[in-house]
Amino acid sequence: MNRRSIRTALVGVGLCVWITVGVWLSLPARSQQPSHIATGTSGAVASVDVDATQIGIDILRAGGNAVDAAIATAAALGVTDPFSAGIGGGGFMMIYQPEGDTVITLDGREEAPAATIPDLFRDPDSTTGDSLPFFPNRISSGLAVGVPGTPLNWATALERYGTLSLSEVLQPAIALAEDGFTVDQTFADQITQNQGRFTAFTSTQPLYLPNGDVPEVGSLFRNPDIAKTYRLLAEKGVNAFYRGEIGQAIAQTVQAPPVIVDPPFKVWPGRLTAADLDRYEVRIRPPVESTYRGYRFYGMGLPSSGGITVAQTLNLLAGYNLSAMERAAALHWLIEAERLAFSDRNAYLGDLEYVDVPTPGLLSTDYATSRRADLLSQPPETADYRATPGNPLPYQQDPSPSLNTMPTVSNVEELEGRSTTHLTVIDDAGMAVSYTLTLESTGGSGIVVPGYGFILNNELTDFNTEVPHPNVPEPGKRPRSSMAPTMAVAPDGGFIAWGSPGGSTIITTVLGIAVNIIDFEMDLEAAIAAPRISQRNGGATLVDQGFEESDIGKALLAKDHLLLSATEIGAATGIFVKSDGVLTAVAEPNRRGGGSAMALK
Ligand code: GLU
Repeated sequence: MNRRSIRTALVGVGLCVWITVGVWLSLPARSQQPSHIATGTSGAVASVDVDATQIGIDILRAGGNAVDAAIATAAALGVTDPFSAGIGGGGFMMIYQPEGDTVITLDGREEAPAATIPDLFRDPDSTTGDSLPFFPNRISSGLAVGVPGTPLNWATALERYGTLSLSEVLQPAIALAEDGFTVDQTFADQITQNQGRFTAFTSTQPLYLPNGDVPEVGSLFRNPDIAKTYRLLAEKGVNAFYRGEIGQAIAQTVQAPPVIVDPPFKVWPGRLTAADLDRYEVRIRPPVESTYRGYRFYGMGLPSSGGITVAQTLNLLAGYNLSAMERAAALHWLIEAERLAFSDRNAYLGDLEYVDVPTPGLLSTDYATSRRADLLSQPPETADYRATPGNPLPYQQDPSPSLNTMPTVSNVEELEGRSTTHLTVIDDAGMAVSYTLTLESTGGSGIVVPGYGFILNNELTDFNTEVPHPNVPEPGKRPRSSMAPTMAVAPDGGFIAWGSPGGSTIITTVLGIAVNIIDFEMDLEAAIAAPRISQRNGGATLVDQGFEESDIGKALLAKDHLLLSATEIGAATGIFVKSDGVLTAVAEPNRRGGGSAMALK
């Protein structure tokens, strides 16, 4: 978005004079090169996209706080990064409030409709009870669409912790959608990757494949429909979404997906209704708290497995002096600790409002001590090796545990997408936001709500459909997530906020960055840029392409680790504030086309 359009946008909603004048006087030139690292002392934004980061910075510069800027940034991502995030999806927001030195989280996860059945993805045409194939049928169906949480997450965060209104923070994104933005390689690639699915829907094809073609890199892309929808939210509030015309359009779209004549695959309708939208609530939840080598960690709690699994892995690693080891030896223990933590994640974690999750036991450091005996000093990495979950129940005070038998080893392949987006913001007062939001797959369900310009999520594919399992679909339940917006306070008072997309590799990306900073003493830029490894109790360890040829990769191979190259493991952003107040905001230098970080001054 150009300077004029931000100014027009802000003036257009009649913002107070101080904001308008502030923006007018202090807007930087928009011609700066996108950059993935920025240093400063009084506020910063890091996201995957230069327009979105700029909008967040403009809001901070105009006097908005970190929550205002985070939501303006997220709304912009709904325009420029619409295949990973948007109002058709959900997410988890972590907020640090300096006044009380407190961290809270907002759970805006999608929710299963009331008519959900455990066998959600059974093929209605099958006489033998087969499930629908994951790709493309499950992920591109109405069945996969959960009640979106993102609009209410924004409204709730602003009302409780922001200083601007929803209308005010949406204006820059409205201008961006109307004026257009330049198509980059990532945007074009994500459409190309989804061409088959997008072609199947009469609402998606004209928007993202105009005349049947992928928009050219460098061309201007406009989305007037999302501008109209944001304007509706701005003028009428979130009720337009949960109890008004947008909600009705969503229910209709899910129940009768707008499919072309003779689609390339069968598209199944879903059971989401206007009443499901009306019932939806955002939950304010405490973070998962833990410590690692003197750092205080804050993680995202259930229904995300992110915070618990990060904390469990770090509890296991606390028994090893990683900084005294060769990097390959230290990475060996990281891999094995991740494997064990994921065995528990896969067995025990689900929506805590539906299942009795033994969280205190899983987080107990005594439990971690007992589990270290199960950490293998020799890698057992064969493609089908799975570690067995432990028994955390003796490590918690629970007079009536409902889990009285050991769960079985889950062999379920992680089929979730590696999409999503993470943004990190800090303001001049030290308020910080670490926010991960998603549609699940890149391109979500592929279904644009006709006339409203946003894609519906396919988050219900995050449920496990083999029963019994704590993460089985149920009415009103939220599917287990891996999203892991994280914050940590260093022993010297330094502060870090970070996160990543990437399905269940989110957890291992967040862990890798933590270990790089704390054990390997890297700065945030190096910690984010470093090669990634990811072990999710899934046999082989995923690694960045080319890692196997590096010295460390060769050393791990020599120790009999089984490494498997992946095209993209995460696309992290973060902000590090040193104890002297100097901050560094960082996005990816290369992954997902590189991100954008900016600081106020
Ligand atoms: N649906 C995933 C989750 O909630 C996120 C998808 C992704 O990151 O690609 O964990």
